Amino acid sequence: MKKNLKRIAIVAMVALVIAACKKNQESAETAPQETVKNADKVLQYIKDLGFPASSIVDNGNEFVVEEDILFPKDMQIPAGGAGTKIEQYYTGSIVSATKKLNIRIFVDPSMTSMSSEINSAIAQWNGVPNSTLRFSIVTTAPYDILIKNEALAAPPGFVTCGQAQFPSGGSAGALVRINKTAIASNSFAQRARTICHEFGHCISFRHTNWAAQGESTATNVPGVTGTDALSLMNGGQCNSGATVLSQKDKDATAALY
Ligand SMILES: [Zn+2]
Repeated sequence: MKKNLKRIAIVAMVALVIAACKKNQESAETAPQETVKNADKVLQYIKDLGFPASSIVDNGNEFVVEEDILFPKDMQIPAGGAGTKIEQYYTGSIVSATKKLNIRIFVDPSMTSMSSEINSAIAQWNGVPNSTLRFSIVTTAPYDILIKNEALAAPPGFVTCGQAQFPSGGSAGALVRINKTAIASNSFAQRARTICHEFGHCISFRHTNWAAQGESTATNVPGVTGTDALSLMNGGQCNSGATVLSQKDKDATAALY
C-alpha cells in the first residue's frame, strides 16, 4: 500500500516536473538551470581541492569554506579542475601572467574609511622582491577585486574578520569582505594585516597553518615548504597574527609570480 502511494507520488511529481518544463519552455529558464548545474561542479571542485564536505557551508549564491574562503556558485572552474598542483600553500590555480601585472581593486564606499589600511596591504604585496605581481586601486569599473564591508556570520564564540575568493579562470579572486566592526578596535597594523591576508587568498594562497587548523591537506609552493609561525597567511589569527609578510611568504610569492 505504501509502495503504491509512493509510486503514485512519484508519477505525480514527474508529471508536475513535465508540466513545469512545458510551462517554462518559452521563458528563459536556461540561466538558473545552468547555475544549478555549475554549483554542483563548483561543489565537486571544492571537494577535489581536498576540503571535506563538512567544512563546506552553502550560503545562497556561494559556498563558504573554512570560514573565510568563498566560492561563488557561478564561478568558472579552472581548466583541469583541482589538478595535482595544489602546493607556502596555494590552490594550484593562480592569476595569469598578464593579469598579475595589474590586479585592479575597487574599494566599495563601505570600505573607504579603511583606505589607508588597504594601501598598506597593497604595498606589502607590491614590495615582494622578484615578483611582478602588482595590485592597484581603481575608482571606476572595470576592476578585478571588489573589497567591501559586511557583517560576517560566525559560529558562537568565533569572529569572522574577513572572507575572500580564490583565483579562477586566471583572474584574481573577485571579492573580499571585511567585517569592519570586528576589526575596528584592532591596531592599524592588525587591520591592515586582515586585509593583506584576504588579498593573499585572492592570489591563491591557502592558510600556511592549514594542518594545525585542522584544514584539508594543502601542497607546498614548489621550493617553499613546511610550516611558518611568522607567515601572514596563517589562519585563525585575526588581531594576533603576523603583520608583515614573512620571508617564506615572500619566497612563495616570488615562486608563483
Ligand atoms: Zn584566511
